[in-house]
Order: sequence, then C-alpha cells, then structure tokens
Amino acid sequence: MSHTPGPRLVYEFDEAQVCVLGPEYEGGKRDLVGVFTGEHRLDNATLDAAAPELLEALRRLLLLDPQCAYGVVHCGECATCLAHAVVAKCDPSWQ
Ligand SMILES: [Zn+2]
Repeated sequence: MSHTPGPRLVYEFDEAQVCVLGPEYEGGKRDLVGVFTGEHRLDNATLDAAAPELLEALRRLLLLDPQCAYGVVHCGECATCLAHAVVAKCDPSWQ
C-alpha cells in the first residue's frame, strides 16, 4: 500500500473547507490529498497531515521494541500491540 508522503500542508481553502496537500514538487506544485468539511475540519485535516510522520514514528518505535508488553503472544491491548495493528492497517505488508 502506498500513500502520499509527507510533509503535508494544511490549507484553509475557505470558511467551509480545509485541504490537505502533499509535498511540494516541480517548482511548487502540490497534489491534493483530501478536503475536509464540517465542524472538526481543521482538526481532522491536521491529523491527516501528520499521518505519514505518525506512521513512520510508530514503525521506528516498533523496530526498537517489537514485543508485546505481556509476553510472546500479542495481547491486542498493550501499546505495542495497538501500534502493530495501526501500522498493519496502513501497510498490510507489515508483519
Ligand atoms: Zn500486547
């Protein structure tokens, strides 16, 4: 699975729409990643814009300490297991 990499930019298009744009390329162009509307549009766009960095941070942390906090078998509830589940949700090739 691939996604638009970071750094992403949050851009308040108008009073009703917040856009998330991909990284700059070819002299200032940016791809549109998403458009957010509704009550929480700015917070949702900000979270979306941080997604590539959050995913990379989780991957790096899991590589440092990949074991479940409660033993060899994944419990599905500790921070490590939750992080594994989130990374796998974004990247099915993650083991
Ligand atoms: Zn666990």
